Amino acid sequence: MNEPLKPTGIVQEELLLWEKGRKGKCGYSMPKRDIESASCDAAYTRNELDLPDLSEVEVVRHYTRLSQWNFGLDTGMYPLGSCTMKYNPKTNDKQASLPGFTQSHPLLPLECSQGTLRMMYELEQYLMEITGMDAVSLQPAAGAHGELAGMLIFYAYHKHKNSKRTKILIPDTAHGTNPASAALCGFKSIPIRSGDDGVLHPQQVEELMDDETAGIMITNPNTLGLFEENIKEIARIVHAKDGLVYADGANMNAIMGMVKPGKIGVDVMHLNLHKTFSTPHGGGGPGAGPVCVTTSLEPFLPVPRIIKKANKYMLENNLPLTIGKMHAFYGNVGVLIRAYSYILTMGAEGLKKASQLAVLNANYIKEKLKDVFFLPYDKPCMHECIFSDRNQKEHGFSTLDMAKRLIDYGFHPPTIYFPLIVSGALMIEPTETESKEDIDRFIEVLRIIANEGITDSEILHQAPQLSKCRRLDEVQAARNPCLTGC
Ligand SMILES: *Cc1c(COP(=O)(O)O)cnc(C)c1O
Repeated sequence: MNEPLKPTGIVQEELLLWEKGRKGKCGYSMPKRDIESASCDAAYTRNELDLPDLSEVEVVRHYTRLSQWNFGLDTGMYPLGSCTMKYNPKTNDKQASLPGFTQSHPLLPLECSQGTLRMMYELEQYLMEITGMDAVSLQPAAGAHGELAGMLIFYAYHKHKNSKRTKILIPDTAHGTNPASAALCGFKSIPIRSGDDGVLHPQQVEELMDDETAGIMITNPNTLGLFEENIKEIARIVHAKDGLVYADGANMNAIMGMVKPGKIGVDVMHLNLHKTFSTPHGGGGPGAGPVCVTTSLEPFLPVPRIIKKANKYMLENNLPLTIGKMHAFYGNVGVLIRAYSYILTMGAEGLKKASQLAVLNANYIKEKLKDVFFLPYDKPCMHECIFSDRNQKEHGFSTLDMAKRLIDYGFHPPTIYFPLIVSGALMIEPTETESKEDIDRFIEVLRIIANEGITDSEILHQAPQLSKCRRLDEVQAARNPCLTGC
């Protein structure tokens, strides 16, 4: 309760509201009532709930201080690989806040929801155009949720054909959610090793693909930041055994306007609207992971489907082969509006340019740092580049130390120790929205840190020094989390 007061500069310490509250404090004042009081049927009265008593200004300061501890894209560069932490233009938030959207309710009659339905219908069309797929459901609420929908579609497809399939092939460069989604549907995942060049080779798939395998899940570009260039041949092998090809499209930011997965053998894929299409993410807020399929799998999509008849938008629920519902009502509509607004403001050329710049920026960082950090796959990358700490290990510091030290220099660290097939991985995804000045600064800081490690590795072992919290005991934090701050 009585935290000692510590000088902390402008970064304020903050207790929990429960620790700050004092009986009798109040957040409002009202004139004395001049009418009879009436009882209400609330499930709990204020006094029965364990709520702290606080004044208005205490509550405002509490949340403002907490917000100041955040690091986000509005604060600085956030080069978290496999996450596409790019800047999201504010106009897309603004469109999502229009009262016509925010004041509507999914239970309104269809005549009153035509605008929202039109937006969703058109967004589906745009996503079909971008991916080259034939039909889309906007329902899944996240990337992994889209994968789950995709796996349920795999399952429903094989069941419909009376074919018993129990396995899914998953390369070692797939995102970790892929085997998890397959397992949730009861499939056993069979790992495939990628080649020394970091991509999958058709022979590997040929050896494993059999009549009990439902298909393959490929993350493309993969988690090494490399494009799976043999995907067409791999799809041919999988299709020859009546298997299906799933593409994890969460990395679409690398290939928009350049590759249409639907044209290179993909049967089902998801997109992460909260990565590629302008919804801020990372804090666990709402997302959207639309699932896109080819014509032959369209009957299995989640319901309701949005259809257009005689210029009216309607919902179709009565589809006998559907996998059912993946989300209440239609999914996270606010995220869909941001994506729609983003696509319209960027246009086809703008989306293509975004991908080209994302790839250019990652390659720029790769080339500028490869004399300092070991580059396990020295070839052109897509949206992210992956180094290892092999050169640093001999000087007694590691990827973790460098990531922590980056915080002292005002950068969010990149993804570390992932993908697992690169030891001590540093996975850097700058995205297209960082300026050359900021990218150059990031490169310079990483060079300084690598040098600091050689001259005085203690600086790195002690980092971060200048953040709200110092280095956490991660085992302790995972096993015995203290949720009241540090
Ligand atoms: C982020 C990501 C996912 C998971 O997306 P969520 O929205 O976090 O569920 C899946 N695959 C890849 C390649 C990703 O980068």
